[in-house]
Amino acid sequence: LIELLNKYNYEYYILDKPSVSDSEYDRLMQELISLEEKYPEYKSPISPTERVGSVVLSNFTKVAHEKPMLSLSNVFNEDEIIKFDERIRKEGYNPEYVCELKIDGLAISVIYKNGILERGLTRGDGKVGEDITHNVKTIKAIPLKLTKNIDIEVRGEIYIDKKEFIRVNEERKKQGLELFQNCRNLASGSVRQLDSSIAAERKLNNFIYHLPNPLDYGLYTHEDAMKYMESLGFRVNPKRRICKNANEIISFINEISEEREKLAYDIDGIVIKVNDIMMQEALGYTARSPKWATAYKFPATKVTTKLIDIKFTVGRTGKITPNAILEPVKVAGSTVRKATLHNEDYVLSKDIRIGDIVVIQKAGDVIPEVVKVELDRREEKLPKFHMIEKCPVCSSKLIRLEGEANHYCPNPLCNARKVEKLIHFASRKAMNIEGLGERIIEDYYNFGYLTDIPSIYNLKKYKDELMSLEGFGEKSINNLLDSIEKSKKNSLEKLLFGLGIRHFGEKSALILAQRYTNIDNIKNTSIEELTSINDIGEIMAKSIVEYFSNPENLNMIDHLKMYGVNMTYLGKKQIEDENFKNKKFVITGTINAMSRDKIKEEIGIRGGNAVDSVSKNTDVVVVGQEPGSKYEKAVKLGIEIWDEDKLLKMLGGNHE
Ligand code: NAD
Repeated sequence: LIELLNKYNYEYYILDKPSVSDSEYDRLMQELISLEEKYPEYKSPISPTERVGSVVLSNFTKVAHEKPMLSLSNVFNEDEIIKFDERIRKEGYNPEYVCELKIDGLAISVIYKNGILERGLTRGDGKVGEDITHNVKTIKAIPLKLTKNIDIEVRGEIYIDKKEFIRVNEERKKQGLELFQNCRNLASGSVRQLDSSIAAERKLNNFIYHLPNPLDYGLYTHEDAMKYMESLGFRVNPKRRICKNANEIISFINEISEEREKLAYDIDGIVIKVNDIMMQEALGYTARSPKWATAYKFPATKVTTKLIDIKFTVGRTGKITPNAILEPVKVAGSTVRKATLHNEDYVLSKDIRIGDIVVIQKAGDVIPEVVKVELDRREEKLPKFHMIEKCPVCSSKLIRLEGEANHYCPNPLCNARKVEKLIHFASRKAMNIEGLGERIIEDYYNFGYLTDIPSIYNLKKYKDELMSLEGFGEKSINNLLDSIEKSKKNSLEKLLFGLGIRHFGEKSALILAQRYTNIDNIKNTSIEELTSINDIGEIMAKSIVEYFSNPENLNMIDHLKMYGVNMTYLGKKQIEDENFKNKKFVITGTINAMSRDKIKEEIGIRGGNAVDSVSKNTDVVVVGQEPGSKYEKAVKLGIEIWDEDKLLKMLGGNHE
C-alpha cells in the first residue's frame, strides 16, 4: 500500500499525470491510516501518512520554507465532521470555525519585502519548495506591490478556471498534443515550467487563504487575517462563512454542494478552520497537517473499478440491457456492484470489454453507469463485446426497431418481462405495495402464486401456502396482504404509472390522471388530443393509445376493476391561475405554513413548475426564513420575489 501510494504521489505531484482518481487515492490512504492505527508496530517511518507531497525533483532552485507548508486531514461525511468538532471541544475549547471552499489547484507561498513581491514557492515536500517566482509574477491576481510597504508571507492556491481549462485543451487537441486531465493538473503543469511565457499564456488565477504569522500583524483570528490580506491587495474568496457548530458547517456544505457545478473554478471540498489563532496554536500540528483544521471532501461521483462480467437483463417492456458486473466499489456513499451499459451502441462506442478498468459514475438516485474505459490500463488483448441475439430468459430472437438503439425481447410471455412488470407495479413510485419486493415477487412467481398483475390481488387466497414458505411468518404475510388491500385505494396516477406503459413516466401519469380523472376517459382519447397536452410528445402519445387499444391490456384492467382497484383520480383538480401558469418557481429558505413538497404540489396544480436552481429563466423566487444563496442570486438577476405572506395570498386560501 505504501509503495502504491508513493507511486501515485510521484505521478500526481511530480509528473502532473495521475493514473488513478483522487477518490481512489483517498480510499487507499484511508485504508493505510486505519491499518496504521490498528497495527502501530508496523508503521513505517517513510509512510505517506507522515509526509506532505512528494520528493522535490525539479530543475528549479529549492528553497526551505520558514514554516512548513502542510497538508490537511480529511473528513468524508457528517459523522466525521461532528467527531472533528467533538475532539476539539473535548480539549476544553468552544471553537468558532471559518469554512472556506477547497480550491482544486496547487498551494503556493508568496513572500514580499517592503511591499514588493520577492519570491513565489511551491509547497514541494512541505519543508522545501521550488522557486517559481518568474511564473508567479505572470499571475495578475497576485499583486506585485502591496498597499503597504511591509514584509509578509502569504499562502494560497494557484488554480485555473474551468473555462480556461476547456480552452487550453481545445487548443491542444487541435495541435494533436496530449490533453490535461483536470484543472489542477493544468494549473500545476503550467506553474512548474521554466519558460514563464507558458504560464503567462494560460491565465492562471489565485486565491490567498492563509497568513502564517498573524500575531506579527496584531491579528488574533483567521477571519481578521483574511480581511487584512484583502486590504493589502490580495484576492480572497468572499465565499466563506463563520460557523459556530457542526450543524452550521453541514448547512454551509449543503449550500455549496448545490452551487458547485456553477462555480467558475473546480473545488473538491470545504476547508474547516478554527478561527481563533491562540486556539489554533494550542491545538497544534501532526507531522502532516494542522489539528485545528480539516478538509471535508465531496463524495466522489466518479470512481474506477474493474469490470468483471457483462450480464443482460430483460425489462418490463422487453428491453434488453447489458449490465457491467463490477468489483465492488464505494461511490457517493454506497457500494456499487453493478452499473448500466445502456445498449449495444453505447458499449461499442466506448469499446467496453470484460476485464477493463472502467470509470463509473453515480449521482443522487440515478442508476450508476460506466462512463469510460481506462484504455491505457487495459492489460492484455481482451475480446471485443458482442451483443447477444437471443433473450437470455426465453431464448426468443431479439429485435431492434428501426431508429431505436435498444434490443427487445418480442415475447410478451417471457418470464423475465412478467416478473419485471410485477416489480414495477408494486414499486414505491407506482402502487407502493410494502413488502412486495423484488425477491418475494420472484419467489411467488416461481411457485406460481403470481402470474400477472391482477394475480397480486388474488394472493390472499393462498395465505396458508404463503405462510408455509420459509422465512414468512403470519405477521409478515398479514402485513403484506394489508398493503395489497391498501393499494386498491391509490389514486389513478399510481395505477397508470404501475401499468408500465412504454415511454411513460411518473410525471406524465399525474398529468394524465389530472386531465382525464378516470381510466375510461383515457381509453377513449386520441393521439391528437394527447399531443395537445403540455409535456406529452408524439412518441408517448402513440405508446399510450397503443397500450389502451390492446385487448389483453383492457382485459387486465377489467380484472383489476373486478378486484376493486380504484380507477379514478383522487387528488385535486387543476386550478386555472394565471399567476402560476407556465411559470418557473424556485423555493429557498423555510416557509412556516407549508412543507416544501406541499408548496411544489400547489404550484403544480396551478400549472406552474417548481425547479431547483435560479437562472434568468426563473419567473418567481419564493423566499422563506434563512434563505440560501439563491435569494442573493435572484436579487442580482432582478427576479420577482415572493415572501411567505405573498405566496399564501397568491394561493388564495385555496389550499389545505
Ligand atoms: P489536500 O488537497 O487534501 O489538502 C491540502 C491542500 O488543500 C492545501 O495544500 C491547499 O493546496 C489546498 N487548499 C485549497 N483551498 C484551501 C483553503 N481554502 N485553505 C487551505 N488549503 C486549501 O492535500 P494534499 O496533500 O495537497 O493532496 C492530497 C490530495 O491530493 C489527496 O487527498 C488526493 O485527493 C490528491 N492526490 C491524488 C493523487 C492521485 O494519484 N490521484 C495522488 C496524490 C494526491
